[in-house]
This record gives sequence, structure tokens and C-alpha cells, in this order.
Amino acid sequence: MTATHVNGLAVVEDQPARSGISRPGVNVVLEQTRHLLLADGSEVYGCLHCNYTSENKHSIRPHLKKHKNRAEPRNPVKRRSSVTAAEPPNHREAARPPRRASETSGPAARDLASLNLGQLVERAQLAERMRSQRDTARTEAAAARRTAENWKEKAADYRKQWLEAKNRAERAEKRLAALRALLR
Ligand SMILES: [Zn+2]
Repeated sequence: MTATHVNGLAVVEDQPARSGISRPGVNVVLEQTRHLLLADGSEVYGCLHCNYTSENKHSIRPHLKKHKNRAEPRNPVKRRSSVTAAEPPNHREAARPPRRASETSGPAARDLASLNLGQLVERAQLAERMRSQRDTARTEAAAARRTAENWKEKAADYRKQWLEAKNRAERAEKRLAALRALLR
């Protein structure tokens, strides 16, 4: 299970990490790499399967290999599900649609004059599909941006709360020290 505490700080938010290949309209996430928000507002990365964490997002993926090997002989059902959830296929899956759209946009405009009615209708439908894919991508990009902004706000909020709690603790500690000096 993913870490619930890191260096004594509680994990207050756990989300799949965003892949570096994400771009506007294509939000690729790494399900097995967790982006963790801690109670002091700091952020680390964690493993989906155990309490391993790191400040470096890229050190989670090599770590995931450990779980693959261990699960194999013992539990074949679990192994299958973890293979289908593996990260590289997810990347390809998520990144494919926009790439396909840009490949077809080139030839579509080239030789309109030589097309029959059926082909023209087909092109029109293709154009319509591409328009709707573009609109979907725009909507997704806007949603991803909102999520990122929300995360930033939360991190700032937790950091503020943590600093306030820390200040309260320090003031209490000082009062206690003053009291101790009096009793000495
Ligand atoms: Zn792990």
C-alpha cells in the first residue's frame, strides 16, 4: 500500500503522477507512481504497491520492477492485472488519438478535385470527427489545468496550516521553558 506517512508527516492527498509526455489535451498519468501531498504542504512521489517514496518522480518507475518479479510465482491473477496496468502501454494508449488525427490531416486536403461524392462525404465526416476530437482535447486540457491549479492551492493551504501549527508549538515550548526556569 502507498505510504500514509513520510518522515512523520501525514499524506493528505494521493493522486496518480502526471507523466512528462503530457501535453495540452493529452493528460497522461502514471497510475503506479503516486503524487503525494504531505501535511506540511510539501510534495513527494510514492509507489502504488508499498510505502516507498522519493522526491524524484523518475526513481519510482525503476522501483516498480521489484513488485513485478515478486508477484509472478505467487499470484498469477494479480500478475495479469498488474501487467495490464503497467505504465508503458498506458502511455501509448493515451498518446495515440491526437497523433492519428495529425497523420490524416495532411492527405485530406491534397486532392479534393479527384474525389467522388462518397469520398467527399467521407472527408467531410472525417473533418467533423477531427473537429470534435479537437474540442474534446481542449476541454480535457482546461480540466487538467484546473486540477493543477487546485493542487497548487491545496499545497499552499497545507503549508500555511502547518506553519501556523509549528508556530503555536514553538510558542508553547517557550512558555514551558520559562515556566521550567521559574521552578528551578
Ligand atoms: Zn513499491
